[in-house]
Amino acid sequence: MTNIAPWLIPCLQQVQVLKQTKSLSHALLITGADGVGQEELAREMVKDLMCEKDQPAACGDCHSCHLMQAETHPDFRVLDGEASSIKVDQVRLLVKQINQKPQVGYNKVVLITHAQAMNINAANAVLKALEEPSDRTYFVLTSSQSTSLLATIRSRCLLVNVPTPNLDEVKQWLTHQADSQELKDLFWLTTQPFRLLSLQKQGKAKLYADLPAQLNSLLQGTISTQIMLKGLDSSNLEDYCNGLAAILHQCICHSTGDSLDNALQNIYPTLIVRLGIQGLMIRYQALQKLKADLQKTNLNPIMQLTHELNQW
Ligand SMILES: [Zn+2]
Repeated sequence: MTNIAPWLIPCLQQVQVLKQTKSLSHALLITGADGVGQEELAREMVKDLMCEKDQPAACGDCHSCHLMQAETHPDFRVLDGEASSIKVDQVRLLVKQINQKPQVGYNKVVLITHAQAMNINAANAVLKALEEPSDRTYFVLTSSQSTSLLATIRSRCLLVNVPTPNLDEVKQWLTHQADSQELKDLFWLTTQPFRLLSLQKQGKAKLYADLPAQLNSLLQGTISTQIMLKGLDSSNLEDYCNGLAAILHQCICHSTGDSLDNALQNIYPTLIVRLGIQGLMIRYQALQKLKADLQKTNLNPIMQLTHELNQW
């Protein structure tokens, strides 16, 4: 088995058994909280389904497995809704391609990741394909918001629910990833393992890791908002807002009894004295509104965030 996160293994094995006993549904929906690894699990399942050998897991040696490794398998298609919505034309094209005879191996697979990004017409086109399954064709969908999918799609899929790993499991797993120390400084932001890795891949881990100390310096009056926000631009505006909102959220949770991450130990006493619980909630809502406003208007982000932080 490839190096897959341990909490994904039972889900993968569940599907391998169904594959081996020839009782696997032609449609699977992999759900779970954002960042727990639905996409990574789906990719492993697809490899197993595409393998030409009659065995539960991909052999890694057959022609299909080689093509999957090279990401050039003609019978495997992907639609990813992470960055933008999935349109009906994309689905129709893909269904047309996949309805042809397999060019290489035995099975054909369509993978739709972040499937909640399908617009209603695209979702109906997928539903139609699921209602009239073409021979040896599998649809694998992933979503962190599966309840927003059409109920008629959900009811046609085998649901595979990825469990959320606990913090110890995440820490253990991160020790096998590169530069994991940097990511362990971000548990105040998220403990979802694949979200952490994604931030690292985007080169954003340091921005977030520095934020609590910068905010603390600002609250103590040792730096100005101008200095704190000097790296802010349109490419990371959302990150600053998300980071500050996460800090407020953690402080609100701590005020009701949750434990507090080490990175926020200095910030919390200052904020709770200045704002109180009510004030923390008001600032959290104001920040969310500001983030939405900044995304759709030409307001000056530095000026607006400075105005917000002046009220902390
Ligand atoms: Zn194989």
